[in-house]
Amino acid sequence: TGQVQGKVALVTGGASGIGEAVCELLAREGASIAVTDVDDLKGPEVVARIKKAGGEASFWHHDVTSEERWIEVVADVMKRYGRLDVLVSNAGIGISVPTITEMSLADWRRQNAVNLDGVFLSVKHCLPAMRKTGGGSVIMMSSLAGLRGAAGLSGYSATKGGVRLFAKSIAMECATFGDGIRVNSVHPGIIDTPIWGKIPAGATGSGQNAPIDPEERAKMVTPLGRAGEAEEIAQGVLYLASDASRYVTGTELVIDGGMNAG
Ligand code: NAD
Repeated sequence: TGQVQGKVALVTGGASGIGEAVCELLAREGASIAVTDVDDLKGPEVVARIKKAGGEASFWHHDVTSEERWIEVVADVMKRYGRLDVLVSNAGIGISVPTITEMSLADWRRQNAVNLDGVFLSVKHCLPAMRKTGGGSVIMMSSLAGLRGAAGLSGYSATKGGVRLFAKSIAMECATFGDGIRVNSVHPGIIDTPIWGKIPAGATGSGQNAPIDPEERAKMVTPLGRAGEAEEIAQGVLYLASDASRYVTGTELVIDGGMNAG
């Protein structure tokens, strides 16, 4: 049997990149997956691939910044699967500018809304469901940029640093509550996903003004000399989602090819 056999997992931003890899790996290891995303094309494709491989999944159109939608989606997932064991709060965006003086307040707020409001709403509305069926595991997608600064991505870095301490705080709350819910954050380094193409050219996280090629950049700054694969992050999420990590809460799992070591 799989490492998360019989569990039900809700994954935000599940249509692409890391979220997609998480959906596919958790499904392969026996979980039923609620794939949620604003991408109505790729989301159902992920579900179809999981089903074709013999797994179980459903798609919900879901903007993580909408509280009304969170209420509907969690109620729907509970109706369909009867429980919620794993929340992977993964949806996120990166907005980069060569220097912070070029950041508009609208972009600053949009990034905060997806990366921080979305994570807040995810636990606000999933914890009650998880408590009803005996606890579970919450995994928040932070970043290496949540552990140390990232020039050109300062606003992004602020949101991800916020996610890191939010995870630790909720971990302590849940432990005090005695509700059987563990909460941890994951910190990817440079991972080859479509997100890099969506970050407007202008800054690279190193302060250079050039479009970002994750593979090129990873070669220069990563001890292991290459960009990571989404599946390599999904393996860490699988560990935190499974009972193998039952004594792990409030911690941060760095998966970065060694970037944070030196
Ligand atoms: P991605 O762009 O491939 O996937 C992100 C997904 O989130 C997309 O499917 C997108 O449609 C969805 N999304 C965006 N806004 C949303 C919203 N408001 N509501 C719901 N869904 C929304 O990116 P990825 O690289 O897979 O990133 C996943 C997470 O990992 C993000 O939180 C990102 O910050 C983090 N991360 C990525 C890297 C990397 O190098 N790729 C590094 C560190 C952290």
